Amino acid sequence: MVQEIEGVIKYHGHHTHCSSHLTHDDINLINHWRNLLHSLQLIGQHPSRYAGYGYGNISQRHAQHFIISGSQTGHLATLTPQHYCSVTDNDLTANSLNSIGACKPSSEALTHASVYAQNPNINCVIHAHNPEIWQATHRLKLPFTDKEIAYGTPEMATAVSQLFSDHAFTSNEIFTMRGHEDGVIAYGTNFSDAFHLLIDTLINSQLITAASTNHRA
Ligand SMILES: [Zn+2]
Repeated sequence: MVQEIEGVIKYHGHHTHCSSHLTHDDINLINHWRNLLHSLQLIGQHPSRYAGYGYGNISQRHAQHFIISGSQTGHLATLTPQHYCSVTDNDLTANSLNSIGACKPSSEALTHASVYAQNPNINCVIHAHNPEIWQATHRLKLPFTDKEIAYGTPEMATAVSQLFSDHAFTSNEIFTMRGHEDGVIAYGTNFSDAFHLLIDTLINSQLITAASTNHRA
């Protein structure tokens, strides 16, 4: 696996600081799901994980753009409009994106952009970190990006496109990133579908691990 530090921003682009860009109404839906994911430690920050950096992020298609949680907000149990921004345009091959809001977008914003680019019916993307799902990738036959591919890079954007063409993905799906420790992406036409897919996959990963442990005992 490539060596990387969680949370380091690898894209370039321009961020316009604007503290009043997003309202409570704008973030009401995404924030509900983000705070739930945080309570389940699928998004968060912990001294013993990833050198203490925040992990996981979430986004929602919004008009011609998408709203995404801000960089290094993982330690916060609840977010406000100040902790989100809009990605207004992006160039996947040039590894660049432009954004506006009270904080800079997540370091993995380019990976979110690459998922939205595949299908106009995808309205939300959840990037969670979970060791059980990640380690069960092969046993659950989950689609994945290769371990040489680092998050937030043009190579990841290309790998995501390749996944869609290889697997004939629907607009509700999940895959892991083998080059990004514990990294999982679930997306869907709505947050409920993406969230339930993530939780169903977590349950299946626990069942399959328990079954193989019992078999060995
Ligand atoms: Zn991550």
